[in-house]
Amino acid sequence: MELLSHILAQGEVQITFPQQNEPFTQIVEGQCYQALCKIKAIIEDDRLNDSECFQKIAMQKEKRGVWSYQTERYLHGVYYDYQIPWDGEIVELGDPYARGCGVNGIRSMVVDLNRTNPLQWEHDQRPKKREENIIYELHIKEFSWDESGGFSKENRGKYKAFTEEHTTLFGDGEHSTGLDYLKELGVTHVQLMPVYDYGSVDESNDEEFNWGYDPENYNVPEGSYATDTEDGAVRIREFKEMVQSLHKNGFRVIMDVVYNHMYSLESNLNKAVPWYYFRTKDDGTISNGSACGNDVASERPMCANYIVDSVLYWAEEYHIDGFRFDLMGLLDVDLMNRIRRELDVRYGRGEILVFGEPWAADETAIEGTAVPALKKHIAQLDCEIGMFCDDTRDAIKGHVFEAEIPGFVNGANGLEEKILNSVRAWSTDGRNVKAPSQVITYVSAHDNWTLWDKLEKTISDEEERIRINKMAAAMYMTCQGNLFFLSGEEFARTKDGLENTYNAPIELNRLDWERAYRYTDLRTYYQGLIALRKQLPGLCDKSEGAWKRIFEEWKTEGVVGFFVDNTGKVYESKWKTLCVIYNSTRETVSKELKEGDWEILVDSESSFRWKEGKKVGCAKAAPKSVLVLGQRS
Ligand code: CA
Repeated sequence: MELLSHILAQGEVQITFPQQNEPFTQIVEGQCYQALCKIKAIIEDDRLNDSECFQKIAMQKEKRGVWSYQTERYLHGVYYDYQIPWDGEIVELGDPYARGCGVNGIRSMVVDLNRTNPLQWEHDQRPKKREENIIYELHIKEFSWDESGGFSKENRGKYKAFTEEHTTLFGDGEHSTGLDYLKELGVTHVQLMPVYDYGSVDESNDEEFNWGYDPENYNVPEGSYATDTEDGAVRIREFKEMVQSLHKNGFRVIMDVVYNHMYSLESNLNKAVPWYYFRTKDDGTISNGSACGNDVASERPMCANYIVDSVLYWAEEYHIDGFRFDLMGLLDVDLMNRIRRELDVRYGRGEILVFGEPWAADETAIEGTAVPALKKHIAQLDCEIGMFCDDTRDAIKGHVFEAEIPGFVNGANGLEEKILNSVRAWSTDGRNVKAPSQVITYVSAHDNWTLWDKLEKTISDEEERIRINKMAAAMYMTCQGNLFFLSGEEFARTKDGLENTYNAPIELNRLDWERAYRYTDLRTYYQGLIALRKQLPGLCDKSEGAWKRIFEEWKTEGVVGFFVDNTGKVYESKWKTLCVIYNSTRETVSKELKEGDWEILVDSESSFRWKEGKKVGCAKAAPKSVLVLGQRS
């Protein structure tokens, strides 16, 4: 067993194996509530014996600031810290490279990862890559916390809830929730909001809630989602069980990763090598482009290595299929392209999804010639790195921060050109976007108002709002790019009009499964759109030049129409050509069609028309709706 760490020290570094409940001599700011590490140091014959339970051992200095400790003893489940001399003092810290940790991530844990593998883990396979990506954003606790989900009491809010199959509404045996629900909905990817160990929730208190955008241990799963927070091996095993179950049920798993900032500057990285891993401005103050108090210095070589190693570790050890980079605009282009390359080498070109938010909260003190991965620099990013497209989002539903400013669906004028660009994922010749693979097409995410709450600001009548919601959904689901939506968008999810619920109670944030069946009409409309999307290679095509599939577009005030070359590259569709009309006016809009038989695929009433094969000679889009027609030859 070998432990290695990159530590800059002025003197000898020691590794310590603390006794159970041994307090830190220094209490880490912001973590005072759990200065005592409640650990179960399982002492067996072949490990540290009782008298050795607290041991301090000098580490070996190797080249380039690496310190190591090697032993023949089997230390799985034993907790450890480092002590490093710094400025005349001894600094105590957890291992920045830790693979396991105790409650609240304070103490690191030696872990034999093979022992954390669930049964059949070696046979776990990611579902086959498909041309369409329909990503569903979920938070572990929100998913199963509400009683209506019908999950077992002990697994509610936990990783384990994802291993429960055939759950139903209050256990009624009829209305699917959980995995079956997701299958019926038809999404292809589940994106998990932060699941690495984060700092804002006391893991020993089940009542606490946070989205988790505040990393502590980058390479360890969050403990509050484990059924046992005190045994560091449990969170690892249960995380793997979750991934295994999602894979088995046909879903690829994307992790939301926050390498741009940490919970606090009292992080193990900053203690190990002060001010190396974080940006500072020329005047010595801390760079704060994340609005979270610190920015990780991704452009520095060891920091870049650290991030790349971390991403590869999750892909390898936990079988993660994709990564969504929070505030990617704070990371640098070289790093992102390197991550892309390293994943491609191991798993095949584009096999693992990589995308992120191409913005930052504020200016960041990025160093030297490093280029931040902002929207304006998309041309420098690999074709297989995607960006959330705020232009499409705001063109469809309206301003993301200004409640009263509407979008195309709810009455804004002059957005027709933007909508046409959205359809082509902003990737026509002469634009920076190389291909639809670089675009995440969406209208809702965990940030800002839910789609329903945003629409509520401009449309007071509920029936009208449902109609407009359907229209918004049908619009982005007939645009090119990778599709993405916040869980519950399909059943009018509300957070009572609150924009930012990162630390609001779970009662507000949880998925309300009863609501899913109160808004069956809307939810069914989403199901039909998703099922149809999978038959539309012309819109799912993510290659360069895919924009040319959109042709003969036209626009009048409040109306956008276009045809789609729907012939397949990967698979064939029944319909070789599509005609799509977005009508946001209060009048019916007609369009003469070229000769041949046209069938209604989607109209204002139903997104399952494509099952009926009803023929039409003229396209008639009802007021405030989307019409999709298909032609077989
Ligand atoms: Ca934690």
